[in-house]
Amino acid sequence: MASWQTLLKQSISRPEQLPRRLAAAREEMARVAAVYPMRINPYYLGLIREPGDPIWRQAVPDVREIEDRVCPEDPLAEERLSPVPNLVHKYPDRALFLVTSQCAMFCRFCTRKRKVGTTRMVIDDDTIRAGLDYLRKTPEIRDVLVSGGDPLLLPDHRLEAILQRLRQIPSIEIIRIGSRVPCTLPMRVTTRLAAMLKRYHPLYLNTHFNHPSEITPQAALACKRLADAGIPLGCQTVLLRGVNDDAAVVRELMRKLLLIRVKPYYIFQADMSRGTDHFRTPVEKGLAIMKSLIGHTSGLAVPTFAVDAPGGGGKIPLVPDYVRSLGTDLVFENYQGLTCTYRNVT
Ligand SMILES: *Cc1c(COP(=O)(O)O)cnc(C)c1O
Repeated sequence: MASWQTLLKQSISRPEQLPRRLAAAREEMARVAAVYPMRINPYYLGLIREPGDPIWRQAVPDVREIEDRVCPEDPLAEERLSPVPNLVHKYPDRALFLVTSQCAMFCRFCTRKRKVGTTRMVIDDDTIRAGLDYLRKTPEIRDVLVSGGDPLLLPDHRLEAILQRLRQIPSIEIIRIGSRVPCTLPMRVTTRLAAMLKRYHPLYLNTHFNHPSEITPQAALACKRLADAGIPLGCQTVLLRGVNDDAAVVRELMRKLLLIRVKPYYIFQADMSRGTDHFRTPVEKGLAIMKSLIGHTSGLAVPTFAVDAPGGGGKIPLVPDYVRSLGTDLVFENYQGLTCTYRNVT
């Protein structure tokens, strides 16, 4: 088996490199890839069965990306909420620290599509130093989300240097890594990497699977290595039209995540990032999917459905409504649609 570095080097970045059976409109795709870069590594490419399938849609450029007239560039106002470049401080006690602009696969629905994988995202020793300085002098931040791009694209020693310096800041209690690598290039999760990460506890890792067919034996092995290193694993799924906007698909995904010891954490309404409008689903769809999970399957398999509010308002949970009336008696309906009452306390 080739090393992860070799697989990454063998990634395709031009539509004409796609196998003939997977390429529809190569010229259109090339126009898209000139704006929003394309990268599909051989592992993830191997998960595609046919054009238009849920894996293909996540990875292959679509002309609708450059025709989007609805979504703004930076809906979450991340740039405005960055006191120093590549560090987003939106919530009182936590911050998002972007440490690389690279990914193992460029997701077509990327929330930072405006910059990930392009020269518009400049991350170097200076920006990392400035981020660490800000965290040092902002002690109310106790939870740092290391993200990007994908932090696990950094070589072990570079990632370790960042983790080491974060751990030297006494006010930082929790380090979280956001990485799609367990899904898109699971062989990156070597036993060496897991042994290195283990030295920086309490360390959590939130990964990102969107479809049950991404849960392969290789992905399971990557998650096993991380979980065996004591790293609690969560998943941040995004609802995407034509990929997973279906209750049965989401239910199967959540069940399979638990089997590989990943706890579904969030399921997101798609952000309004420019170039991704065609992926968005009605909020009602997400609520219906939540209703099909709650009570029907293990509570462990039920993530929080949330919309990240445009303008930088933060994540807002969206919950199906089980309340029929509020009064002396609370009248609810349960997951089966049966009416239940509870005598309120005044
Ligand atoms: C999502 C996010 C967080 C973390 O939010 P949690 O609800 O704690 O997972 C922190 N900072 C930014 C900028 C975020 O977008």
